Amino acid sequence: MVTTDVELLIIGAGPAGLSAAQYGARANLQVLVIEALAPGGQALFIDTLENYPGCFPPDSQPCSSGADLVEAMHRQALAFGAAFRTQGARSLEKEGDFFMVLLENGETVRARAVIVATGSRRRTLDVPGEQEFLGRGVSYCASCDGPFFKGKKVFVIGGGDAACAEAQFLSRLASQVMVVHRRDRFRAQKALASRVLQNPQSTVRFNTRLKEIRGDLKVRSVILEDTHTGVSWEEVGDGVFIFAGTIPQTTLVPALTKDEQGYILTDPGMAASIPGIFCAGDVRSSPFRQVVVAAGEGAVAAHSAAAYIDRMKDPGASR
Ligand code: NAP
Repeated sequence: MVTTDVELLIIGAGPAGLSAAQYGARANLQVLVIEALAPGGQALFIDTLENYPGCFPPDSQPCSSGADLVEAMHRQALAFGAAFRTQGARSLEKEGDFFMVLLENGETVRARAVIVATGSRRRTLDVPGEQEFLGRGVSYCASCDGPFFKGKKVFVIGGGDAACAEAQFLSRLASQVMVVHRRDRFRAQKALASRVLQNPQSTVRFNTRLKEIRGDLKVRSVILEDTHTGVSWEEVGDGVFIFAGTIPQTTLVPALTKDEQGYILTDPGMAASIPGIFCAGDVRSSPFRQVVVAAGEGAVAAHSAAAYIDRMKDPGASR
C-alpha cells in the first residue's frame, strides 16, 4: 500500500493539533494532520467561548463559540500549507529515525516526528439505564442535545467545569436543571460554580449520586442516593447529561510514559518519553485543561518538533 512521506505528522485536529499544524507549517515543515472525525475536537461543542483570550461575547467575532474558533484555526493552518486528511491511525511504530503510522485505510505515513494530539473522551458512569437510554434522554453533550429538552426537566451529573458550564447552558433551555454531585462542593472553577449556585433555574444536590436511569421509550426518572445516609429516592425528569470527567485517548501510543490517570507525561518542550514523539492538549498530563492551554501546547510542540527534525537532518544545526 502507498506510503506518504512527511516531516511532521500530527494526530488529532482539536485546538492542540490545529495550533501545532499552523506553527509547524509556518516553520516550513511539511505537515500532515490526520483526524478520524471533523477538525475541531471537543471544542466544537463549546456553545459560548468566554474564556479564550480575546474571544469575549457578544462582539467577539469570529470566535464566540468553540466551533467558530476551530473553524478559523483550521483555515489558518490550511492557508500556511498544512495538509489535512480525514483518517484514523491504527498503529504507530518507530523504524530507525522514522515513525511509520498505519492508517485505517491501510495506507502508511512515514514521518520524522509525530505530535500526538488525540485528546480525551467522556467517562461513562456505567449505571443501569445509561447505555439503554443513550440518545433517548441520556447525553454527554449539552450543546448537541440540549435543544431537545426545551421546557423539560434535566439532570446534570458531575461537579467539574464541564458539568457547571453545561448546566448553565441547559438552564437557558430546560424548565429546570438539577445538578447532582457526589461530593459536598464543586471541583469547577469558582466563576462557573457560583453561576450554577446562583441560577434560579437550577437546583444543586450535593452528596448525591446517580444510581439508575429509568424510562420506557425515553427517560422518565432517575434514582438518586444520599451518599451519607444511603437513602435513595426517585426523581421524575426527561434528560440526564453526564459530565463525569474524561479519559485520555492513548491506545495508539501504549509505550509512552503516563501519569497515574493515564495522561501522557512530557518535558516542558512537550517531548514525550520516545524521542521524536511530542504531545499536546487534553491527552497530555496537565493541571489545567483549557482550549487556550491546548493551543499553547500545540505551538510549543511544533516548535520542539521542528528543532528535533533539524537535528535529525543535520546534527550540527540549532533552531
Ligand atoms: P473533571 O474536572 O475531571 O470533573 C469530573 C467531575 O465528575 C468531578 O466533579 C467528579 O467528582 C465527577 N465524577 C467523576 N467520576 C464520577 C463518578 N463515577 N460518579 C459521579 N461523579 C463522578 O472533568 P470535566 O468537568 O469533564 O473537565 C475536563 C477538563 O476540561 C478539566 O480540565 C476542565 O477544567 C476542562 N474544562 C474546562 C471548561 C471551561 O474552562 N469552561 C469547561 C469544560 C471542561 P469529584 O469532584 O468528586 O472528583
